[in-house]
Amino acid sequence: MQDLFSVRDKVVHVCGGSRGIGRAIAMAFHEAGARVIVSARNREALAATGLEFEVCDIADSAQIRRCVDNIVARHGRLDVLFNVAGINYRHAAETYPEERLDDILAVNLRGNYLMAQACGRVMIGQGGGKIINVASLHSHFSLAGMAPYGASKGAIAAMTRALAVEWARYNIQVNAIAPGFIQTDLNRALWEQEEIRRWALERTPAGRLGVPEDLVGVAIFLASAASDYMTGQVLYVDGGLTAGQTWPLKVPR
Ligand code: NAP
Repeated sequence: MQDLFSVRDKVVHVCGGSRGIGRAIAMAFHEAGARVIVSARNREALAATGLEFEVCDIADSAQIRRCVDNIVARHGRLDVLFNVAGINYRHAAETYPEERLDDILAVNLRGNYLMAQACGRVMIGQGGGKIINVASLHSHFSLAGMAPYGASKGAIAAMTRALAVEWARYNIQVNAIAPGFIQTDLNRALWEQEEIRRWALERTPAGRLGVPEDLVGVAIFLASAASDYMTGQVLYVDGGLTAGQTWPLKVPR
């Protein structure tokens, strides 16, 4: 039974693995005996993980190709891609700066797509693999001030289904993790605002905000043989937020 969830000796690329959610996943896979390669833009943050790394900006397709080629040259294969890299910028929809829109789509949509494509080609050639994208609450519903981010994360859910359908014949499973409110660099300033924090806690049935380590269990499941017959799914790891809300109704106990 333990082997079902084993990721030992798997070659695992965590794109966006230097900080936050990606870093927690990378560390957990390293501890579980996987051969982990993290990639991101900032070399110092990558080196600080102590893991094997590739400097790669996924807004640049040439860097994506070089990154994946280097991994395959060193390890001979690539079993798992975690497509975690993502950015956000909050601004009213009607005056959203065009260059910020372009940046978000270049990373969260185009970059994630091209990384999946480059890794998918390797997986097709070797007879299988696992791709795990990172979606969001915004794949399911919207919060004001994040229209381009929401558009990109809706696209990630659609892309997950599309690649799953197209690559099932190659024994590649493509799924997505949709995290709820997870405290990382991406949103630290937000959770420091007491009003926002209280608002989020009231809406999260689990009664707490998430931490990156909350995503590790589902990451192991999606990267292991335990999920071999599951593809094209978006799994919400959100403390129950998208399941519904508690409310002040007094019910008999
Ligand atoms: P984070 O702490 O800001 O980490 C983002 C990671 O992506 C870093 O390793 C960053 O490193 C890398 N990255 C950013 N732009 C990149 C680029 N152009 N090329 C390559 N790597 C790049 O964010 P996080 O909260 O862990 O978020 C990770 C993912 O989860 C994102 O896709 C985000 O949308 C999603 N998510 C987060 C939450 C949440 O509550 N935190 C909720 C839902 C979804 P460099 O800056 O050095 O490149």
